[in-house]
Amino acid sequence: MKTLLCLLTAAAALGVAPTFTATVAAADAPHEHRHKGQGGPNGGRLLETEPHAEFLIEKDRSVTVRFFTDDLKPVAAAGQTVTVLADPKAGKTRVEFEKSGEVLKSKTRLPEGDGYNLVVQVRSKPDAKPQNFRFKLDLATCGECKRGEYACICAH
Ligand SMILES: [Zn+2]
Repeated sequence: MKTLLCLLTAAAALGVAPTFTATVAAADAPHEHRHKGQGGPNGGRLLETEPHAEFLIEKDRSVTVRFFTDDLKPVAAAGQTVTVLADPKAGKTRVEFEKSGEVLKSKTRLPEGDGYNLVVQVRSKPDAKPQNFRFKLDLATCGECKRGEYACICAH
């Protein structure tokens, strides 16, 4: 009788556990997808600013920053300022931006090299406290999402 009870308990545990896991996964999935799986509409890295800023490195290594609402509708830059601090082996370099129509464009190109650290500072207006986004410059293309690794939206 004791053995039977044990088996029943084990079966119940097995039966309940997967259901529970599935429920939790379903509840978490949309949230996780929104944050990990959302990239900039032009292939750049989407920064958690309000509105979102897309940091896009162009082929000539200049940088374009565009702004988007939560559902990725473009909005014109409105007083935001962006500064990039690049830290290549050759020495720290500051890249300034200027408004160009509805977007911000870097005045200079990113320094030579790859794999160095970047800090992107975004201010909602010139005198606001900056939001800092640190990541590695990685211009290789991700084999899965086909975006630059610096803007990869895969979970790895
Ligand atoms: Zn990827």
